[in-house]
Amino acid sequence: MSVSENLQIIQSNITRACDKVNRQPAEITIIGITKYVDVEKTKELYDVGITNLGENRPEGLLHKITNIDEEVSWHFVGTLQSRKVKDVLGHVSAIHSLDRVSIAKEINKRASTVMDCFVQVNVSEEDAKHGLKVDEVVSFIEQLQAYELVRVVGLMTMAPNTDDKSAIRSVFRRLAEVREEVQQQRYPHAPCEFLSMGMSNDYEIAIEEGATHIRVGSKLVGN
Ligand SMILES: *Cc1c(COP(=O)(O)O)cnc(C)c1O
Repeated sequence: MSVSENLQIIQSNITRACDKVNRQPAEITIIGITKYVDVEKTKELYDVGITNLGENRPEGLLHKITNIDEEVSWHFVGTLQSRKVKDVLGHVSAIHSLDRVSIAKEINKRASTVMDCFVQVNVSEEDAKHGLKVDEVVSFIEQLQAYELVRVVGLMTMAPNTDDKSAIRSVFRRLAEVREEVQQQRYPHAPCEFLSMGMSNDYEIAIEEGATHIRVGSKLVGN
């Protein structure tokens, strides 16, 4: 199927999920994840109106940016090493994987303007996943106050790798609760309004639980 057909299906699923919980599709930003595809296919996403795109590796991001002239808001969604921070700064509108002070320090040292970041939370506590534990999030964000060029715009998580929809749902629900806790602190550097959660297999559940940014790869580009 074409990207445009895939997008139509996703949009109607988004509408249905929104209807269930009284939300508006306009509240949801689709980030098209382009890590599986080449520059040509990436341009197809842009052509159907997806202007928020995401990559999970600095090399992939830089390759796409170098070869795509269109006005894209790039999101960095993968694990970031401190020494790679300088490669992505200036190219991305948001980093979705902040989970270490060393990364914040490096952003602060290298950035020329405020960098919007999502703090990554490992709600399901699977060993293979990056991110903070739920009970570490508030104190971590408090520490980020020291880095004036880091702004925490939201939280990000990945659902557990399971077919158990209720387990997935409870992870997303927990992330929304953690966002409440962070918002209650009223940190000027951490408005934390957004929830980056939901991928190809679980974005509808994520939307029902409050996602503002869904990161969709395979179901959009085909696999
Ligand atoms: C690959 C990736 C996605 C997209 O995954 P799909 O299941 O293909 O939609 C979303 N978020 C992150 C962090 C990823 O690495």
